[in-house]
Amino acid sequence: MANHPRSFRRNLLLKILAFSVPILLIGQGVALRKARSSLLKTSRQNLTSSAIRKAEELQTGIRSVEANLDLLAQTAAFQAGDEQAIEEILVEFDQDTPYVISCVELRGPQAEADTVNTCDRSIIPDAKQVPWLQSGSVESSDFYVFSPGQNAPTAPPNTSLNGEDREDRALIKFIVASPIYGEDGELRYTLAMEVCLFQLQDIGAQSLVGETVVIDPNDIIVTHPDPNQVGKNISELRDARKLSSTIGSVRAGNSDFVHLFRFLPQEGGEWLAGYSGFKVPVSPKQNNVWTVLAVTPIDRALYGLNEIRQVLVVLTIGLLAASTLLALYVARSLSLPIERLIRYTQDVDDLSQLKAAPHSSQIWELDYLGTVIERMLRRLEESSAELRHAWQDAQMANQLKNEFLANTSHELRTPLNGIIGSIHVIRDDLCDSRAEELEFLQQADKAAFHLLSIIEDILSIAKIEAGTLDVNITPVDLRHILQDVLDMQTLQFQKKGLQLIRPEFPEPVIIPVDHSRFKQVLLNVLSNAMKFTEEGSITISVTTDESIDKGDSPPELFLPPPPWVKITVKDSGIGIEPQHLSKLFKPFVMVDGSHTRPYEGTGLGLAISQNFMRLMQGDIAIRSDGAGKGTTVTIVVPRIVKEAARQSNPTQMADDGQSGERQATDEPASAVSADS
Ligand code: ADP
Repeated sequence: MANHPRSFRRNLLLKILAFSVPILLIGQGVALRKARSSLLKTSRQNLTSSAIRKAEELQTGIRSVEANLDLLAQTAAFQAGDEQAIEEILVEFDQDTPYVISCVELRGPQAEADTVNTCDRSIIPDAKQVPWLQSGSVESSDFYVFSPGQNAPTAPPNTSLNGEDREDRALIKFIVASPIYGEDGELRYTLAMEVCLFQLQDIGAQSLVGETVVIDPNDIIVTHPDPNQVGKNISELRDARKLSSTIGSVRAGNSDFVHLFRFLPQEGGEWLAGYSGFKVPVSPKQNNVWTVLAVTPIDRALYGLNEIRQVLVVLTIGLLAASTLLALYVARSLSLPIERLIRYTQDVDDLSQLKAAPHSSQIWELDYLGTVIERMLRRLEESSAELRHAWQDAQMANQLKNEFLANTSHELRTPLNGIIGSIHVIRDDLCDSRAEELEFLQQADKAAFHLLSIIEDILSIAKIEAGTLDVNITPVDLRHILQDVLDMQTLQFQKKGLQLIRPEFPEPVIIPVDHSRFKQVLLNVLSNAMKFTEEGSITISVTTDESIDKGDSPPELFLPPPPWVKITVKDSGIGIEPQHLSKLFKPFVMVDGSHTRPYEGTGLGLAISQNFMRLMQGDIAIRSDGAGKGTTVTIVVPRIVKEAARQSNPTQMADDGQSGERQATDEPASAVSADS
């Protein structure tokens, strides 16, 4: 199945969500873990402190019981064994204590000789556990604390203690026993009391006081949140191993915490317990350690975690919603400028009508991308325009080539026909006289020279196009070249009846040119002027950079650095339409390209002239105000001031003077007119 690429907007949105959702969820998980461990740490510390406090309270309570028991044992009623008085004392005593006495038993040395018992059961442990009943020679300060055993009722007879509410307090029941000796030192009674101490216990969901577990030195459970466990040995419990190692730690004097995983018989839930211990140092022989645990289910210890979890869930949902909105906003604000750029490139039908690329994204990179695309399109437009021009040029060149072939063959055939015709006339002895023969020979000669000049032009343009044309620059006097050219044209001027206005300048104008090529340029310009002018005049003027009136220069004419000289040939001929002017310097171009046109020519003269002039550091330009308004050709060429010319090349100047050509002299050129 084809996998369609998604839009940039959707891609961005999905990627932002794909990153942010797991990060948020992981963040939530980490925060919960952190909160859990921190809550656990606090719970452990609180439970450990609570266990220590509970142990201290119990120790203080037992000491108070011990003191009171001692006090009772000293009273006359107890000493004398006055049962009635003893009962009265006990009732009074019960009301004054900060603990509850649930049973008092006063028993004589013989088991059957009970004297007093305030409840319907015996609380004095059996003789095996009570040392003074075994030996009869124990010290008077003996005081023993026992756990009440499995069968003791759990509820105290009275739940009000000095008017205080005991509902939030744990009941811890002990049996304390002490011997009472008579004045004779003989054991008279064993006094045992079942006392209930109360302790703060954890009833609030968030309270970390914990419920109380007390384990006596014989590993018997004295207090437990599950009343069924009271009186059991810890070895009977599911968490026996953990509890016994905890008791070991307490006996080593430690207070710490422990996790109990099977604390209750019916539940498998985890409980957290802080533990501590206390000693009952009332008897040197009973110096064992009692273990106190402050226990709470782990759920209660982590009660705050639920609230944190709820807050985190709300926060995560909020953050998810916020990140989705943010992703939507970011995706939109990023994709809009990109979409605008796409539309911009899609809307480009015509490169020449190219608009500016959108630049309002406020994102530097995208604005820059727009600029680059616009620049690329403009370059494309430029190069396609160049290509168009090159294509037009190529088409034109092809057309010109065809025109050239037609023209040239016509131009070649005309003089050739003349030559052949003249030769045939002479060969067939058709002339009447020798003079007539000579005339035909002269015509053939003239036609042959014309043919030669056409062929030379073709060769020159071939050399120009091959880049192999070179010039031989020497200093020459412009006056002499001009004179030579005019001499060659005088006859035609006279034949056509044109007026030739030529400049007069007495001083030599020395120009560094290729003599024959420069003459060819002048000849071409003058013969064009004459060819395309049927009546009127041809005006030649010469100005230099030093002239007061330098004359107009066409803007396209490239003036060399001074000193220079400018030759202007102005005719009153047929003129040229402005749209044709720019292409006339291309080879083979004629304004009227047809070979049936009234003027002969190959269209090579101006192209050759421009190349020659540029090789000689000069230039040539053609101007016309339109058809019938005449034409002006301007030629410019560097000039050599006379002294510098002599200094730079005196021998050349001398040689030039000796050659057949007329070279730079001080003679002034004479004015020639077609009329003269
Ligand atoms: P040719 O004269 O052999 O055709 P040129 O390169 O010398 O070739 O001239 C190119 C064309 O420029 C001519 O065919 C003509 O159309 C135009 N031209 C040149 N000089 C003149 C002028 N003085 N007056 C009118 N048209 C001219």
